[in-house]
Amino acid sequence: MLIGAGLIMKAGAILKRLSVGTLAVIVTNKRIARLYGKKIRDSLNRTGISCQIELVPDSEKAKSDKTLISILNRISAYDSNKDLFLVALGGGVIGDVAGFAASIYKRGIPYVQVPTTLLSQVDSAIGGKTAIDLPAAKNMAGSFYQPKAVISDVCALLSLSARQVRNGLAECIKYGVISDRKLFEYLEKNYRKALALDKNVLQRIILAASRIKARIVEEDEFDKKGKRVILNYGHTIGHAIESASGYSGKYNHGEAVAIGMICAARISSMLGLLKEVDRIRIERLIKRCGLTKKISGLKIPHIYDALMRDKKFIHGKTRMVLPVRIGKVRVVEGIQRSVIIESIRSAHKAGTIYA
Ligand code: NAD
Ligand code: MG
Repeated sequence: MLIGAGLIMKAGAILKRLSVGTLAVIVTNKRIARLYGKKIRDSLNRTGISCQIELVPDSEKAKSDKTLISILNRISAYDSNKDLFLVALGGGVIGDVAGFAASIYKRGIPYVQVPTTLLSQVDSAIGGKTAIDLPAAKNMAGSFYQPKAVISDVCALLSLSARQVRNGLAECIKYGVISDRKLFEYLEKNYRKALALDKNVLQRIILAASRIKARIVEEDEFDKKGKRVILNYGHTIGHAIESASGYSGKYNHGEAVAIGMICAARISSMLGLLKEVDRIRIERLIKRCGLTKKISGLKIPHIYDALMRDKKFIHGKTRMVLPVRIGKVRVVEGIQRSVIIESIRSAHKAGTIYA
């Protein structure tokens, strides 16, 4: 895992040193290719690695069977005697689909993650989960497959929209709350600089956040021991919000998770597990990062309906990750439906959720 400024231009030297291969198929989309395609290609070419670029559609629609097959066909067209490898240059969508393609082509070829969104640098590029979506649900087909390297260039973030930056910051706040009080405090002091894309501040945040993700994943690589569950803080109600808004993009993942984190903190405080001062700090930081701005068109009853459709709520006990102080969470089971509903209602009343 490498994090720094200007690393895309050094990618060739990095990959050469790691002996990843001699022919790279770079999976990316038009927008990212326009911004960073030439930089990475020149860098790889300088060290004798030849490149082919495979363009996939933008956004979530690229996580499809169609894109997967087109990547596989493209790889096979270039597969010769050279040591071929994949480079996923883009956000979480590209990382997920390219990683999946790498894991199944000839039962596995090397690949490298070059994440270009804050979310992918602190989250999706780390951990080795790859996937495409099926009509039934997101991430339904995939594999565990670790990249040979993750190269996170903070300079690539400078072209992100403010909303995309906030999207990634939500996950960074999550890491602070679940296991790193110092990161949380750093975010409290530096959120303005992070939003203004200060490279040094972003680099420190990405380093701290990706270390936490890597540590948690190392303890439970295949998600079988229940250690990764704390990464779901804010995600139960967050997913319900995404689902209730029909994944329309009205609420992006970070915005939905931010509201989910606020509700989970409210539940924790209602159950007497979290002090009010800590709940207020969590809520304040999320608000200051611009993650609770007014978005209309979401009906609160639809959130309840979506929550009740959640498998966990139908078949078994409810199970949520709740903060007990900043830097520590606990998995709590059997939370009453009325408590969950009250947390959403009170967040709505406090102006955190608009409907
Ligand atoms: P994304 O990949 O769709 O990228 C967001 C948008 O930003 C896209 O339009 C993209 O073209 C654009 N973009 C990317 N880099 C840019 C740059 N540097 N400058 C300007 N624009 C740029 O979204 P995302 O938020 O990065 O990732 C979301 C995906 O990640 C989801 O599919 C989610 O399921 C997945 N995910 C996977 C894991 C995992 O463990 N594998 C974890 C979390 C999320
Ligand atoms: Mg998430």
